[in-house]
Amino acid sequence: MSGPNGVSVKFTDLFINGHFVPSVSGKRFETIDPRTGEVIARISEGDKEDIDMAVTAARQAFDYGPWPRLPGSERGKIMMKWAELIDENAEELAALDAMDAGKLYHMCRNVEVPSAANTMRYYAGAADKIHGEVLKMSREFHAYTLAEPVGVVGHIIPWNFPTTMFYIKVAPSLAAGCTLVLKPAEQTPLSALFSAHLAKLAGIPDGVLNVVPGFGPTAGAALSSHIHVDAVSFTGSTQTGRKIMQAAALSNLKQVSLELGGKSPLIIFDDADVDKAADLALLGILYNKGEVCVASSRVFVQEGIYDEFEKKLVEKAKAWVVGDPFDPKVQQGPQVDKEQFEKVLSYIEHGKREGATLLTGGKTVGNKGYFIEPTIFSNIKEDMLIAQDEIFGPVMALKKFKTVEEAIKSANNTKYGLAAGIVTKNLDTANTVSRSIRAGTIWINCYFAFGDDVPFGGYKMSGFGKDHGLEALHKYLQVKSVVTPL
Ligand code: NAD
Repeated sequence: MSGPNGVSVKFTDLFINGHFVPSVSGKRFETIDPRTGEVIARISEGDKEDIDMAVTAARQAFDYGPWPRLPGSERGKIMMKWAELIDENAEELAALDAMDAGKLYHMCRNVEVPSAANTMRYYAGAADKIHGEVLKMSREFHAYTLAEPVGVVGHIIPWNFPTTMFYIKVAPSLAAGCTLVLKPAEQTPLSALFSAHLAKLAGIPDGVLNVVPGFGPTAGAALSSHIHVDAVSFTGSTQTGRKIMQAAALSNLKQVSLELGGKSPLIIFDDADVDKAADLALLGILYNKGEVCVASSRVFVQEGIYDEFEKKLVEKAKAWVVGDPFDPKVQQGPQVDKEQFEKVLSYIEHGKREGATLLTGGKTVGNKGYFIEPTIFSNIKEDMLIAQDEIFGPVMALKKFKTVEEAIKSANNTKYGLAAGIVTKNLDTANTVSRSIRAGTIWINCYFAFGDDVPFGGYKMSGFGKDHGLEALHKYLQVKSVVTPL
């Protein structure tokens, strides 16, 4: 099947037990190009029966197959091969995400896909460094611990970073020796299916990795409530996270980790370089058209530089280029789908009605697809919906503050706690604010700086459990204590 821009869509079926197969029901759903609203491909729609088949394959592979029993170095070797294949197929993976999710092709090609290969390498390297401890215990006994894979893992991921998210979840769980079923978001199944093909080429044994596209309330719910799934690792909205946790509790008490929504603050102090701070604030909200869990959607600026900052920010936002994400000059593509597009526009209307000042933006761009102008509101009151809800679009809420204490209070005035940014040259201020904000990641004089070795995850209603780093590897391991007499 050939999609727009000549990108070919090779895989549209479910990937179960090492093979691409149609769904049991034979049903298909459309995946849409958000630049035009046109259909890219019709994808096999996984449902309860398909999830059941995929979990059975993963269970067999875990209970009897080679993967959990291989020496870590052997698993690592196969994963290294997969990383090479990601690099070799970077254009195709990037084009699939750009087309399916409206992401900037050049960012996918040059940043996100190479980072996914590096994520695979990081955990491939960790696979043979998993070990337990020897414990002295007492005069009569001694003990040792084994770090064993948790079992069959269900991964449920969102649409905003389809490739990144796939590898962040899959790589540490495979390194740990788990087997898995992954359900990509219904909006963006293409790169996950292509990645399943790469897994097969790399030599991942059949049944170890299964990919079942489908909808949340059907396929997603079946996976999170399946009694043969030992752990669920979820990234998505706080609302869905709650359902996943309930499903886990009501089925087999499977382990759960939740990477959820955010409403992250960026605090800019009087001593900041105003021009650079304005660039950072824009990047923080406009990267990936604001469809980022850590987007700096609330920006607090100290009164001494506020007026100059606001002027620069608006100038820069007006010059921001919105358009076809395959065009290298473009800085912002379309929102992922019609639903998200309408949701963002309705928040903009809400902001106007609530009495915030619309400094720039607020309108759609072009006459087809789901493009929205960079939008900045000022004169925000903290109880406004646009200052509290996660909009997940290019909409910034801007507010002036006087003191450090006031900035900290405002930053923490949210149910979320995913990330925060601080711009200041003053080390004391940076340290005080970092320790006072209840969020899982703090960026000082930078934003969106991620590392494979740097744990990432939320506080408060942004969830619990970490992705990235060795913390993510440990999420897929469980400790067994073995005691023997001396
Ligand atoms: P969503 O919760 O609607 O969907 C996420 C995934 O969950 C999809 O695969 C969906 O099909 C599935 N799902 C939906 N209902 C389900 C159910 N009842 N049972 C099981 N699975 C179900 O979220 P979204 O709109 O796709 O993504 C946007 C959200 O994700 C935002 O809130 C964003 O902040 C969050 N997000 C968080 C992070 C993070 O690392 N914290 C990263 C990216 C996105």
